[in-house]
Amino acid sequence: MSSRLTASESSLNAVTASGQQIATIRLENVYKTYDLGEIQVPALRGVSLEIFAGEFVAVMGASGSGKSTLMNILGCLDRPTKGRYFLDGRDVSSLSKDELAALRSHKIGFVFQQFNLLPRTSALENVELPTIYAGVPIEERAKRAEEALRRVGLAERAGHFPSQLSGGQQQRVAIARALVNNPSLVLADEPTGNLDSRTSVEIMEILQGLNEQHGLTVVIVTHEPDIAQYAKRALEFRDGKLRKDAMVQNRQLASEVLPTLPAIGAEDEADAPGDRAKSSNGNTPAD
Ligand code: ADP
Ligand code: MG
Repeated sequence: MSSRLTASESSLNAVTASGQQIATIRLENVYKTYDLGEIQVPALRGVSLEIFAGEFVAVMGASGSGKSTLMNILGCLDRPTKGRYFLDGRDVSSLSKDELAALRSHKIGFVFQQFNLLPRTSALENVELPTIYAGVPIEERAKRAEEALRRVGLAERAGHFPSQLSGGQQQRVAIARALVNNPSLVLADEPTGNLDSRTSVEIMEILQGLNEQHGLTVVIVTHEPDIAQYAKRALEFRDGKLRKDAMVQNRQLASEVLPTLPAIGAEDEADAPGDRAKSSNGNTPAD
């Protein structure tokens, strides 16, 4: 578990001896029931699913349909009650706690709706944090964090605290943090849930860039059909079951949509709050 795999290496490795591609994610009849003592809450009820390297999947469904439960299982933060989960062909239930932790920290990057940044910690230090758990040598950590911030267009904000950043910038810091250990899989649970529509498209532009240019496998939860249009494939959950699984028709490219949207502050320039005004000052996600 000591060697780091880049996204392209791990996708190249995901082939059997017979030349068949191994799914990055494979769920076999997965159930998850939360045991609350008196009552049992069935959150997933028999989900089977394969996701391959380089896919960009949107997970949709009403509140309570099991989306976050699914993401927690995919991210090895929780285990199925029943059924099996194979990550790159390995049965996750066969791994020890340490192996799981190593897998999580090297292979998977997480992004959350609430950003989950440490408040009294600079953007750079927030991004550096996972490198400590991954055992990256101390002299390399800042360099890796700077590079990750550059990938999301925030190199200039490295010394800022979360409170000095707009919501969109905070989410970009969170994406940089997810990228810092070069994962091959990014899991994002409602990453645009707290953002206005233009900023949401900016976040989708970053995720599409990671998927297209770096071959990362991306799985996002969203309940907004507009946002799912940026994915390549959409799953729909209802009552803990996968009800629909289809390729996205007329997929949108964020880089094409962004120029057609009004700039932030354009509609309400008279009273644009400082942090939102800042984010329109030339920090494009692509720089
Ligand atoms: P979604 O993300 O689609 O809103 P969740 O996966 O969070 O759905 O929840 C699915 C179901 O499981 C819901 O009924 C929810 O109340 C329940 N649930 C989620 N997490 C827990 C938990 N930690 N303990 C008990 N029940 C939970
Ligand atoms: Mg949820």
